Amino acid sequence: MQITLDRQVALITGASSGLGYACAEALAAAGAAVVINYHSQKDPAESLAEKIRARGGQAIAVAGDVSSEAEVDNLIKSTVSAFGRLDILVANSGLQKDASFADMTLADWNSVISVNLTGQFLCARAALRQFRQQQAKPELSRAAGKIIHMSSVHQVIPWAGHVNYAASKGGVDLLMRSIAQEVGEERIRVNAVAPGAIKTAINAETMQGDAEKKLLELIPYGRVGAAEDVANAVVWLASELSDYVHGTTLFIDGGMSLYPGFRNNG
Ligand code: NAD
Repeated sequence: MQITLDRQVALITGASSGLGYACAEALAAAGAAVVINYHSQKDPAESLAEKIRARGGQAIAVAGDVSSEAEVDNLIKSTVSAFGRLDILVANSGLQKDASFADMTLADWNSVISVNLTGQFLCARAALRQFRQQQAKPELSRAAGKIIHMSSVHQVIPWAGHVNYAASKGGVDLLMRSIAQEVGEERIRVNAVAPGAIKTAINAETMQGDAEKKLLELIPYGRVGAAEDVANAVVWLASELSDYVHGTTLFIDGGMSLYPGFRNNG
């Protein structure tokens, strides 16, 4: 069976770079019309939209801060006014503000929680409200809407020096599962992906030379991930092939969450 998202509309937050960019490109390649949300990097978002249109796809870039209720509402409005509906949300935006716990400022804490957790809440809520307002199209998708949260292996692996980030991703897990429990009977599917170490701007410094070698000790499968590894899983989760997958986190981590320190008898 071939995956197609033809005539479906996807909104991807934080899609001017990294995983969001790759997800937007892959969803568009599968046939979806895509809304590429960006926060501050307008140029790469606009040029991705242009690249997709040049290949015959449909895409627009829209600015918006996912931690702002009004801007998230505007994102949905822009999506509907461009493409008439919303079928797939990929709530991807995220950031890190690392510090040892004693030195972590309230501003570091608040900025991570407001984007990584409150942003996911606002985007999922706005998508759900839109799914409820529009006519379902069972000929395209048995689900009446699909939400995919971008989590992290750090929803289960504690992370010293990154308490705000790990807390935000732990929160995403129960946010996702609680929404899934609440809206499943409306045939709205809610899932998450939890990447391990994927080479993007968020971790560029820890992915080079000796640092990369050390990182590989934590990855049983023996390679660092690429953005496409995550994008492929997101396309599958958005598609009919995963129609019975609901309330689940798919780990895309080369085994990082398998306690690799125990490989040699602990
Ligand atoms: P990235 O820095 O390239 O992407 C993050 C995106 O979020 C950027 O485009 C940024 O502009 C956007 N963003 C930040 N604040 C925003 C705001 N207020 N409103 C809207 N957008 C905002 O890094 P990435 O690795 O592509 O990260 C994407 C997601 O994947 C994040 O949620 C991150 O936590 C998660 N993740 C990444 C990895 C990895 O190894 N790269 C691993 C696990 C989870």
